[in-house]
Amino acid sequence: METVVSGIRSTGNLHLGNYFGAIQNFIKLQNTHHCFFFIADYHSLTTHPNPVDLHKNVREVLIEYLAVGLDPEKATLFVQSDLPELTELYLFLNMNAYLGELQRSASFKDKVRSQPDNVNAGLLTYPALMAADILIHKGTHVPVGKDQEQHLEMARNFAGRFNRMYQVDYFPEPHAFNFGSSLVKVPGLDGKGKMSKSEGEGNAIFLKDSPEIIRKKIMKAVSDSGPSIPNQKKSPAAKNLFDLLSLCTDPKTIKFFDQEHKNGTIRYGDLKKQLAEDLINFLKPIQEKIKEFSENPVFVREVARLGAAKARISAQKTIREVREIIGFKPF
Ligand code: ATP
Ligand code: MG
Repeated sequence: METVVSGIRSTGNLHLGNYFGAIQNFIKLQNTHHCFFFIADYHSLTTHPNPVDLHKNVREVLIEYLAVGLDPEKATLFVQSDLPELTELYLFLNMNAYLGELQRSASFKDKVRSQPDNVNAGLLTYPALMAADILIHKGTHVPVGKDQEQHLEMARNFAGRFNRMYQVDYFPEPHAFNFGSSLVKVPGLDGKGKMSKSEGEGNAIFLKDSPEIIRKKIMKAVSDSGPSIPNQKKSPAAKNLFDLLSLCTDPKTIKFFDQEHKNGTIRYGDLKKQLAEDLINFLKPIQEKIKEFSENPVFVREVARLGAAKARISAQKTIREVREIIGFKPF
């Protein structure tokens, strides 16, 4: 069976981008594939969370994983830091990851721009840790959003380089995966880029947002002043709104607003109202589950414990084999 690996950073609550970019695929793949889904708390350290928040954030993402329908009986759900083997593989991969290529990573360049006071080595070697996350389970399919495409390419390079260096056919090539066609990018509400956990509260719709908050955020989402002539090309801001509409609104309604835009008669207020109500309805059952799992810490703890045990079996096997390939021998 092909192996699927993917994770989400515990840098905040999950949002629509995480759901439609990644989780939607996790839910389908768990029925047909050997799946590892983890909470990337090591990765969250690049932004220096305080010790009190760290565990709380991990717990919340785990609860949200369960609430969206990830099933610990079908998939291995685990916390990244429960797998110390990862840090060893990360070290091995770092020996083969070059400064130039790490500096060329678009996400690294973004971080250098956005947080110039905290350009730590963890940020630079993020792609090596991400490759370790995948390769430790010999993952082949990696369901991720569009923003991770380049990291996957780097993971393939690191895997291939290891194989060539030791003349083995050990690591498979991991590929970004999405059911359907291209990888997804859900736009942020500020109209600047993708929806993100760490771009400020108003930029994302979180799975746990109340109806009032959703209505408020959507009404504030960036739009334009409306088309001035019929058949005008959609501005980037208008396109963002239509992209958001495409997530959970029925095709007939989308077509209606599309036609209104073509006619030059669209009222973004109406589109936003519709968008907010459709999102609220979509998120309602997930929010009920979030509440349910939040009230059951014993179950949540058991999921993490079981997931860690399963993930470690796979990780320990890989580390044993990798050490042997590299040439470590017991005396
Ligand atoms: P952070 O701001 O801390 O980096 P994030 O919102 O970017 O958080 P990640 O944990 O980095 O979320 O990413 C988890 C998964 O969600 C990845 O597969 C990523 O590609 C996907 N993802 C994140 N944001 C979006 C988005 N706006 N559209 C589509 N997929 C997304
Ligand atoms: Mg991210």
